[in-house]
Amino acid sequence: MSTLTIRDVKTILTAPAGSRLAVVKIETSEPGLYGLGCATFTQRHLAVKSAVDDYLRPFLIGKDPQRIEDIWQSAWVNSYWRNGPVLNNALSGVDMALWDIKGKIAGMPVYQLLGGKCREAAAVYRHAGGKDEPETEESVRHYMEQGYHYIRCQMGGYGGRTQKMRPGPENRLPGAYYDPDAYARSVPRLFDHLRKKIGFDVELLHDVHERVVPIEAVRLAKQLEPYRLFFLEDPLSPEQIDWFRMLRQQSATPIAMGELFNNPHEWKPLIVEQLIDFIRVHISQIGGITPARKLASLCEAFGVRTAWHGPGDVSPVGHAANVHLDVSCPNFGIQEWSGFTDAHHELFPGCPELRGGYVYPNDQPGLGIDLDEEAAARYPCPEGPPEWTLARTPDGTAVCP
Ligand code: MG
Repeated sequence: MSTLTIRDVKTILTAPAGSRLAVVKIETSEPGLYGLGCATFTQRHLAVKSAVDDYLRPFLIGKDPQRIEDIWQSAWVNSYWRNGPVLNNALSGVDMALWDIKGKIAGMPVYQLLGGKCREAAAVYRHAGGKDEPETEESVRHYMEQGYHYIRCQMGGYGGRTQKMRPGPENRLPGAYYDPDAYARSVPRLFDHLRKKIGFDVELLHDVHERVVPIEAVRLAKQLEPYRLFFLEDPLSPEQIDWFRMLRQQSATPIAMGELFNNPHEWKPLIVEQLIDFIRVHISQIGGITPARKLASLCEAFGVRTAWHGPGDVSPVGHAANVHLDVSCPNFGIQEWSGFTDAHHELFPGCPELRGGYVYPNDQPGLGIDLDEEAAARYPCPEGPPEWTLARTPDGTAVCP
């Protein structure tokens, strides 16, 4: 294996279930030995493809694929300017593919390379929702009946768009309008309803999705204390992380944060000062398995648990990487799960399996998942730039995200 080199690198774009997915394939000098990695940044997939195919490919060809750490570090600084989502996702595609290759060389699943299993499977949470309290309760019961113990509850989507809204001015621009004040008042009402109807034998979660001003996030976390949430997600935007200190002083509601994070400058103070309870970065957004395992170890030292981002715009390769980390990480907390369609299974043989509220990695070498490129070509990405929800408050102000 000492003469093993990287022979080719390419990005495969496909959209089997609507979301544009990006998967990097690294081929080696050994025939049939290749690796796959998730590089999905669904809103800017073409930019990631260019970062991989035009920049990382020539940088990587001829290098030893077994030197994961050296390749990660040298690729990261190769553009000098770094820490952005496009380059981080491109690097993630490479990094996961190299872990996949290393596992195949060793004849071991990636979780074995990471230290072996701490648990047989990862508990997952699903997304319940409805336009009002009874409809949301029905959705929660639907998941409980399927054996799920952790359920995220949203009423009216992010920001509670179905809540009664204050009147706006004339000639407002198009967008997905919501009223932050009506939303903030609706959330305690929802959890009061759910706990009264369902009780406390199920773990409930909620995602604020940064849809309130910071002081409202503090008030919301305090008001939700009696309902014992498993966690309150993204109460503040990454630009307002200084407010986490006040939030922590005021409330014992567990806090999850980080799906928009790119680099250690963002997560380090929150972990070291013990201002959050769960780190939930998007693994490809931070550069792959190599930085994620270091982040998980940092969290372990400070009593913070993992809750990696697991939406539909992560490829099944990325979900597999999440699960390998989940089962081998002592401070695992929970895994977000969005489910696979028949098309996902057709394109990606070896998807992690979901049974009874838990997701299981398979025991194949590497990440244990493949990509049928011919099938992927039958699900091309739609033309043009993808749309992302434009959120506006009642007077027409565009807010992020
Ligand atoms: Mg979220």
